[in-house]
Amino acid sequence: MSRVLVVEDESAIAELISINLRHAGYEVVIAGTADEAQAQVDGVLPDLVVLDWMLPGQSGLVLAKRWRGQARTRDLPIIMLTARAEEGDMISGLDAGADDYLTKPFSTNELLARIRAVLRRKAPEALDTMVDVGGLKLDPATRRVSKEDRDVRIGPTEFRLLHFFMTHPERVHSRAQLLDRVWGDHVFIEERTVDVHVKRLREALDPVGCSRMIETVRGAGYRLTQQVQALSD
Ligand code: CA
Repeated sequence: MSRVLVVEDESAIAELISINLRHAGYEVVIAGTADEAQAQVDGVLPDLVVLDWMLPGQSGLVLAKRWRGQARTRDLPIIMLTARAEEGDMISGLDAGADDYLTKPFSTNELLARIRAVLRRKAPEALDTMVDVGGLKLDPATRRVSKEDRDVRIGPTEFRLLHFFMTHPERVHSRAQLLDRVWGDHVFIEERTVDVHVKRLREALDPVGCSRMIETVRGAGYRLTQQVQALSD
């Protein structure tokens, strides 16, 4: 389930947004100030932030800029809300690092559509869309993995790991990145744990002939690739 942080000081608006997001299947946390939002982000990195521009004290704009400047929050998907429809404001919001921008009042459907679009672009593993890489299919909604209608028996951690690999194929991920994105950051686990689960993932994929899709990239990490199909086992 994707975790969305809603940063909005007007509690009626924050509640309305969160009720609708929960109804759409998101886990929602609310922060009323920039400090509360920072504390939430320091605790658990959300999958996406809906950030109001006008907050008491520090503005949403300053907060977005700060997050973009820090390694841990650099890629945090941010949708900025504002009551002002001026084009200059929109440009400032996007310059500050917002991925998208909505002017109040907006419809819930529009917000939901923007959230899905931003997640699809920046954090596809946070969506429950079916993924298919080279005939290997993974369905987050049913937690089913299959190849040519043959089911793959797979543990929950290996499932999340495979989901992340399949939504970011052909890219090398370091063990530290995988720990952050699959296990959650602020989780203190040795990097060797990743190797253990990659080994289990390969074993799970072996019966359907897909174990070689998970490549070890020496000195760098792991990658899911389709380019191994021609190789013999
Ligand atoms: Ca506000």
